[in-house]
Amino acid sequence: MRINPKKCVACGNCTYVCPMGAIYIDPLLQRATINRDECVECYSCYNGLSKEVLPPATVRFVRRTLANFRVRFEPEPDVCPTTAFEPDELTWPRVVRRAFSDPRVPHESTGVSGRGTEEVKTNDVTGRVGIGEVGFTIELGRPGIGARFRDFQEMSRALAAAGVSFEKNNPISTLMTDTTTGDIRSDILNEKVMSAIIEIKVPVSRTEEIIRIIWEVEKRIPTQVVIGVGVRCDEEGEETVVAPILEKLGYNLRRAKTNIGLGRKEIRDLTKSAPQTEKKELVHA
Ligand code: SF4
Ligand code: SF4
Repeated sequence: MRINPKKCVACGNCTYVCPMGAIYIDPLLQRATINRDECVECYSCYNGLSKEVLPPATVRFVRRTLANFRVRFEPEPDVCPTTAFEPDELTWPRVVRRAFSDPRVPHESTGVSGRGTEEVKTNDVTGRVGIGEVGFTIELGRPGIGARFRDFQEMSRALAAAGVSFEKNNPISTLMTDTTTGDIRSDILNEKVMSAIIEIKVPVSRTEEIIRIIWEVEKRIPTQVVIGVGVRCDEEGEETVVAPILEKLGYNLRRAKTNIGLGRKEIRDLTKSAPQTEKKELVHA
């Protein structure tokens, strides 16, 4: 994303809408400027602000003139008064920023918008997480902090060293050059995104081991890590195997998403063999 300095009148409205804090008013230029290294190409500024097409020279003149009388002329707070934002023609590797950060853009690798994965939300159809397995979603980044692919690689390498299997239908997995080492394409390692999710699954018996690996990596990377755990419920809709392990590790469990199997084609499948799948969000006590 770029801001056309010929159009910008430095009203500052856009500085409040950037979730990465990447827009600032340059004190020398007296124009809004984007820190390109921090911008994740989420398009919140471009899509989030209404656009007016006031003539920039006139707006500057009016603002300067009124300022002499100690009167401020400011546009409405949700408007870029001069339509100064101009999206770049994104090319590789920068285009991956937008793919992971603009929720309206579907991922080419999976066809899914947002972070590009359905996680266990469609487990009734995909069967990603089976009985006796734990599916982990390991999310790196958040608005305000983001994450770089080198951070994801730090995590994926540690998990690969533990011999886990990465979910194939996940955009981070498709960006790995080797899923046995967790290596991610070297040309995108410095690219920054709002957030993205690594997905793995392991036997239930490895739950604690995997969480401890994630904790270790978390100490080494400059971003936030959120762990989600997907498990199969029993016939009563409860889960009593993994929950005690997580509670022993200090988590307060919250059932975040429940898949009740309505996606199956055959209602017979639904009633006979589609135990619920739930995802817990872990809150460390
Ligand atoms: S909202 Fe538009 S005119 Fe105002 S500072 Fe941002 S880019 Fe410049
Ligand atoms: S595209 Fe997103 S990250 Fe980049 S400047 Fe606009 S709001 Fe900020």
